[in-house]
Amino acid sequence: MAYFRDFSPYQYGHCDAVPGAQNVGWLALGHAFETGQALEGDLDLLWAHCKLAICATRGLHSCEFCSDLSSAGFRVTRNGETLKLGYSEIRVIGPSGQSYAAPSMIYHYISQHRYKPPDVFLAALRTGPRPPSDAYFEALRTRGLEWASTIC
Ligand SMILES: [Zn+2]
Repeated sequence: MAYFRDFSPYQYGHCDAVPGAQNVGWLALGHAFETGQALEGDLDLLWAHCKLAICATRGLHSCEFCSDLSSAGFRVTRNGETLKLGYSEIRVIGPSGQSYAAPSMIYHYISQHRYKPPDVFLAALRTGPRPPSDAYFEALRTRGLEWASTIC
């Protein structure tokens, strides 16, 4: 999968009709990243975002940090619910409207590889509009983004 430095301008899939989204969580082997213990509340919020596939691609990405490489993408289960990750993106939108584009794999990176996203990303996750609220879907619409479900 492509590597992008955190906060670099999002361009990858050119999915956003409005410029200004920033990359977060596009990890790759050979690029060190900050680690830490994730809060369950943050993982819950991230999970809600990961239920939506934004800017889906035909290809499936496996995780470069797992020795057991999956060829069929990722099925990840949390609290009895299973999502398919690794072929789409999420958007985390802060209260000021700043948008962060992350691969759906970011949930796996955080929960399994202890990736610690930047604090402003976590702040946006905690305080911005969140799915499945109307405000969140409206924020996607104003950015020209479409979505589908990742629920298996
Ligand atoms: Zn992994």
